[in-house]
Amino acid sequence: MKGMNNPPSATEVQNPLLATRTGAFELPPFAAIEPGHFRPAFDRALAAHRAEIDVIAANPAAPSFDNTIAALEKSGRELESVANVFFVLAGADTSDEIEAIERDVSPLLARHNNAFYLNRTLYARIAALYAERETLNLNAEQARVLERYHTRFVRAGAALEKPAQERLAAINERLASLGTQFGQNVLADEKSFVMLLDEGDLAGLPDFARAAASAAAEERGEPGKYAITLARSSIETFLQFSSRRDLRERAFQAWIRRGENGGATDNRALIAEMVALRAERARLLGFASFADYRLDDQMAKTPAAARRLLDEVWGRARAKAAGERDALQALIAKEGGNFALAPHDWRYYTEKLRKAKFDLDEAEIKPYFQLDKMIEAAFEAARRLFGLNFAPVAAPLYHPDARAWEVTDAQGRHVALFIGDYFARSSKHSGAWMTALRDQEKLSGDIRPIVLNVCNFSKPAAGEPALLSFDDARTLFHEFGHALHGMLSNVTYPLLAGTAVPSDFVELPSQLYEHWLEVPQILERYARHARTGQPMPKALLDRLLATRTFNQGFATVEYTACALVDLDLHSLADSGGLDVTEYEREDLERIAMPPEIVMRHRLPHFQHLFSGGGYAAGYYSYMWSEVLDADAFAAFEETGDAFDPATAKRLRDYVYSAGNLRDPGAAYEAFRGRLPTVDALLKKRGLTEVGAGTE
Ligand SMILES: [Zn+2]
Repeated sequence: MKGMNNPPSATEVQNPLLATRTGAFELPPFAAIEPGHFRPAFDRALAAHRAEIDVIAANPAAPSFDNTIAALEKSGRELESVANVFFVLAGADTSDEIEAIERDVSPLLARHNNAFYLNRTLYARIAALYAERETLNLNAEQARVLERYHTRFVRAGAALEKPAQERLAAINERLASLGTQFGQNVLADEKSFVMLLDEGDLAGLPDFARAAASAAAEERGEPGKYAITLARSSIETFLQFSSRRDLRERAFQAWIRRGENGGATDNRALIAEMVALRAERARLLGFASFADYRLDDQMAKTPAAARRLLDEVWGRARAKAAGERDALQALIAKEGGNFALAPHDWRYYTEKLRKAKFDLDEAEIKPYFQLDKMIEAAFEAARRLFGLNFAPVAAPLYHPDARAWEVTDAQGRHVALFIGDYFARSSKHSGAWMTALRDQEKLSGDIRPIVLNVCNFSKPAAGEPALLSFDDARTLFHEFGHALHGMLSNVTYPLLAGTAVPSDFVELPSQLYEHWLEVPQILERYARHARTGQPMPKALLDRLLATRTFNQGFATVEYTACALVDLDLHSLADSGGLDVTEYEREDLERIAMPPEIVMRHRLPHFQHLFSGGGYAAGYYSYMWSEVLDADAFAAFEETGDAFDPATAKRLRDYVYSAGNLRDPGAAYEAFRGRLPTVDALLKKRGLTEVGAGTE
């Protein structure tokens, strides 16, 4: 449909973002794309999509599935293609120019989205179809697409009266700017704190930590000094290794007070306003609280269901953490210390205990985890599970470090193009993620996906193999699990493709895939020493795997407290006059938070909840997905074969290839034959050997 209404002008024809893709695998012509091409391409693509929507909404013919839902599914292709290229670059290979375009374009896209979902004429057609859905002779997938469109429009407020819609639009805009401000305040507090140290203050720090602190000081114009900053990698390393209790306390206090320091960067008033606006938005849409609104369209469905899971874990996590605390306190006593373990001591004594207990040295493990071998390992697991093959191809990409593989099935048919972009660089955002240049669909021909994994592993010196930590290797498998969810997708309608599932279900394919890194058939074959080629000695492997449940009481408490406070705060029907510090204190007291542990993210800097709304009332999602992944892997373990073909086929049919074809609960039940239980998660986190605690 693209370009039907406005024939492109001569300059637009020359814009490589708008040209028909003719190269290998129909990749964007990256070499020809310049930042200056994006704004005109966005303008044209937005206008084209608007025109398409207007035609659909104004169609004089009575609404039909074809002239409304299928037409919407076919619209906006140009916009999607331009946006996909842009956001791949904005994440993985950005620049000042790209960042300026991003600030420029983001509000345009938000407004476009708002106008789409609050379009009453369009909604009237969708609602009419939905009302007569039983008589439309739709197949199961068409019925699901129609239901998803209807739900999305209703949840956005399309069915409300005009004044309520206007209020909703105002709330959305206000929430967006508050969210931006929140994130910038946290960043400002992080930037303004730096602890400058001298050589004599570095007791306990290993060489790599000294080198990083020295570089951080140099960057701040303090050569010869050492700087500890509030970046997680800097502060956590310092807390883990520094034997200077006074300095640990100073740095820790600054870390947990981000967003709570008074003045212009204090986030507490912003939180109070955001929580109130979210509650008002939920009320306008007919829900008792924001948590009720948010979870209604998740797998959990209700805050009570999410809370049941968190409560089940919470008592056990506290009991395990109490045991860990006692062991740390005993270590302090053994060293002649005469003080009670404080939050700023936990990581330091845990590191000591870990060394003593498992005798594990990072330098001993790393040579066994070569990046190229771990990529092969992830591919091998996909071959055994799903019959996929991966062949490297020379394709023109956006950066020389990015590599591509053609993915084919057991019959040699093209499945997807997979792009791996693994090394850190200054033009790349931190973290690791999966994204796509093209999603799978069958509405406009058999369109196969182009999927990316972007990571931030350290790039080795020329000629040296890239080595990963065990955590890095797990990250690689995690992102590859997301990639498979995109690549194996087998649906007709784009709305349902691949990872377009609720956020408490989307981490199942990724977290589940992490399990295959640890199965013997994979580790024995691919964890080989970079220099000698020898497999990892069994004793070392055993020690490595044995650390999996170490300190999990702490990790589970630190996480679960956040998820509980998030749910409580967003369950408030009326948050008038909210005092954020006081609320957090009271709520932690109510759940009996151990005093030696602080929330992983305290409210004044809890960016998942307030810097954008991605995980507001949804921080429980990680654990919800973990219940699923632990239980799903147990399905393989029960057969005695980590690659059991029948289980793998069900997994492919109902999870990896199914996108959002079914309600996630129904999809899981179809795979497993029953709903998940929490047992496997408790075992995975080592929470079964402790009592259920006091609540
Ligand atoms: Zn993930």
